Amino acid sequence: MGVFKTIRDAIRQLINHVSFSLSHRLRSLITQTHAIAVDALSHSYTTGNSSTQILSDVSFFVERGETVALIGRSGSGKSTLLNLISGLEPIISGEVRVNGQALSTINDSERTRLRGAEIGFIYQAFNLIPTLSVEDNVALPLALSNVSYKHQQPKIADALQAVGLQTRARDYPDQLSGGEQQRVAIARALIHRPALILADEPTGNLDAQSGRLVLELLSKLVDEQSSSLLLVTHSQEVATVADKILLLEQGGISSLSKQDLSSSAAW
Ligand code: ADP
Ligand code: MG
Repeated sequence: MGVFKTIRDAIRQLINHVSFSLSHRLRSLITQTHAIAVDALSHSYTTGNSSTQILSDVSFFVERGETVALIGRSGSGKSTLLNLISGLEPIISGEVRVNGQALSTINDSERTRLRGAEIGFIYQAFNLIPTLSVEDNVALPLALSNVSYKHQQPKIADALQAVGLQTRARDYPDQLSGGEQQRVAIARALIHRPALILADEPTGNLDAQSGRLVLELLSKLVDEQSSSLLLVTHSQEVATVADKILLLEQGGISSLSKQDLSSSAAW
């Protein structure tokens, strides 16, 4: 009896799994017009008994394959917005859809799956793990989604090749320059070929020359993978490579033309 129950449970699990994947695919096919759709998003932080409004009724889209630069003064809420889009910060008011999935309606495990499989992150401070080699850092997203060691190897080699660091696979982060560390972080973010890359001031810790190289590389790889990129930046040059420029100011978002850029208050 025990054996039959186990088999029955296993079949039930399989059916659940298949129908979940199908409905997920179907749902994303129907609603998958934008990589990101932010709708009437508001956010505030409460510390002690005072509450500060960071975002007020923010709405915008990032189309599939589009590179969007997000600019705004320090403290204007750019990182908060990225954290809301990646599901790290809970949504209080409004809605964010990533590849058609409404973040406020999915549960924690779906959110974790979305973050792991469909989004890649690049941070200002690289956020590499110092005790792991370059190749192990790059492999992290694969290891976290249980890709077998055998299947990881060719992907790691490709990702390191793409950022020109194939000879540094066994080195550790502190043996690399800032620009090289950011290239490792790019390889890590892209190894899954995620539909969406979120980059929070990725050139902020680099000198102008390395920043430019890192940015050109990121832009080229994002194009090759047809990923969408939302890029927070302080560099005017960065914003000019984007398809669209958004300015976050006093909790509101507005679209900027490239001509407006030089006179913008954000610089
Ligand atoms: P930016 O990335 O544009 O510099 P942030 O999104 O980091 O801005 O921060 C926007 C504002 O929200 C800042 O005033 C910051 O101090 C505040 N803030 C950010 N995170 C928190 C938090 N977890 N708790 C309270 N206040 C926060
Ligand atoms: Mg920030």
